Amino acid sequence: MKTISILIPCYNEEAVLLQCYERTAAVMESLPQFHFEFIFVNDGSSDRTLTILQAIQCKDSRVSVIDLSRNFGKEAAMLAGMDHMNTDALVIMDADLQDSPELIPQMISWWQQGYDDVYAKRSSRSGETMLKRWTSHVYYRVLQKISSLPVQPDAGDFRLLDRKCVEALKRLRESQRYTKGLFSWIGFKKKEIVFDRPARAAGKTKWNYWKLCNLALDGITSFTTAPLRGASVIGCLLAFIAAVYMMIIIGKTILYGNNVAGYPSLISVVLFIGGIQLFFMGILGEYLGRIFNESKERPVYLVKDYKQAREVKKDAVHQ
Ligand code: UDP
Ligand code: MG
Repeated sequence: MKTISILIPCYNEEAVLLQCYERTAAVMESLPQFHFEFIFVNDGSSDRTLTILQAIQCKDSRVSVIDLSRNFGKEAAMLAGMDHMNTDALVIMDADLQDSPELIPQMISWWQQGYDDVYAKRSSRSGETMLKRWTSHVYYRVLQKISSLPVQPDAGDFRLLDRKCVEALKRLRESQRYTKGLFSWIGFKKKEIVFDRPARAAGKTKWNYWKLCNLALDGITSFTTAPLRGASVIGCLLAFIAAVYMMIIIGKTILYGNNVAGYPSLISVVLFIGGIQLFFMGILGEYLGRIFNESKERPVYLVKDYKQAREVKKDAVHQ
């Protein structure tokens, strides 16, 4: 009997958690040929999320709960879940029911046909503003262009991963994680299924534009050094233009003598070059910051409490 874990990172999800559990459990009922387990990761919620999780665990012996010591972010919470997974496959799902559990049987059937990473791509983005849709569209185009990574636009973290993909992901311990890129980086046999992503069932999104910008920057700096290359190229180009301009000025001075005009052009050149220099220093800083963060080699998350499911299939334990 094949075993499958459902990993659900939860951060302040009291409003939807029970509903999410019930709908997913109903889907599991329809697949008696598999043994399922739940791995809920409580990512330092400040509401009743943990209490609800404990209640769920009391009545369902297939549920494991990992309680992190504080809020580490979804990326870290997912890694925590992966580290505690011990089944043949893992399904990663949001708690807010934006990732319809009803898609799981379809994912499993592709997995059985030999695919290792079955991910759901959203065909629509209901409940999102035009601006968010447009920025994400542009961002993925850019990321794909400048990194050699085949990033799947509109594919989130909702996916089924074979155990070997999870083992691969577990070996990537970087602390500023951009999981979406890591999924592409590991490779393996991928299959895309398309679904209509509904709006959040209840509660509020944890994302705001600031966090999204940061994630976007992480995506770029963790997968490509193209901005550094770009800075070098533009620097060379500017140096060349400056050299030509210098020749022109020297020529003019020799021909017509030195009249002290030219303050406006001088100040605009100084400001322009200054601006570019600061911008490129910022880019350098981004990469330096990454080195700084990774060189500390801190654990990606800390577990406060881990309660394993009471009912663990014996043959699922590979260790
Ligand atoms: N989440 C988390 N830690 C965080 C933020 C979010 O574990 O710091 C979880 C959250 O509980 C949800 C999932 O990540 O299950 C997706 O979050 P959200 O719905 O806010 O993101 P969106 O769907 O808007 O991208
Ligand atoms: Mg959501």
